[in-house]
Amino acid sequence: MTTLHQIKLRCPLCDNRFQSQAVVSTNAFGGKRTDFHERAAGTQPLPYLVHMCTRCGYTGGERDFTDEAEVSPLLREHVWNELAPRVANAGASGSEKYEAAAKIAEWQSMEPRYLGDLLLRAAWCCVDEADTEAERFFRRKAAWMFERALESYDGVARDERAVITYLVGELWRRVGETARAVEWFDRVELELVDEEAQRWILDAAHQQRDCPREWFG
Ligand SMILES: [Zn+2]
Repeated sequence: MTTLHQIKLRCPLCDNRFQSQAVVSTNAFGGKRTDFHERAAGTQPLPYLVHMCTRCGYTGGERDFTDEAEVSPLLREHVWNELAPRVANAGASGSEKYEAAAKIAEWQSMEPRYLGDLLLRAAWCCVDEADTEAERFFRRKAAWMFERALESYDGVARDERAVITYLVGELWRRVGETARAVEWFDRVELELVDEEAQRWILDAAHQQRDCPREWFG
């Protein structure tokens, strides 16, 4: 089972002290979807790996709430103008938290690869929130972000390019952009650096192109 506990956090941006729920332990017994969405048995841990300040909306992982967190004047201004007005008393959903975390990462000029991961997590949360429209919105944004990462010379490590290329294909497939998905699945072969070790990713690309499945294994 996934176990949660209460933690106390101090917001580095507005100094607000608040409580949040964090993951103590989790499991991967729920299987893995073909977009790498790992499922736990019981409570899904994803929404509890990010925390949102209940006052200003600043959002991040636990380490983003330590003294090491860097808050530039520009980030501060963006958060007060764009996140603070939307802070709800009821608390944010998982997808809302990852969306806010992605915005903060963008304001901090983080790498597209990192932003793509946050947007993908937002999409995964939408699956559990049964919000198909928002799920598609975040899948598209994640696909564009990973495409941008792949376009730049060192945006993705050489030995990870095949798996990210596959993922872009799978994201387009899941929003119904089949032709675009096939283009990306066909590119996977060109990105392999170790044919033996990466055989599985080429097989997955062929499978998702020709006879798609929802789950790995
Ligand atoms: Zn705050």
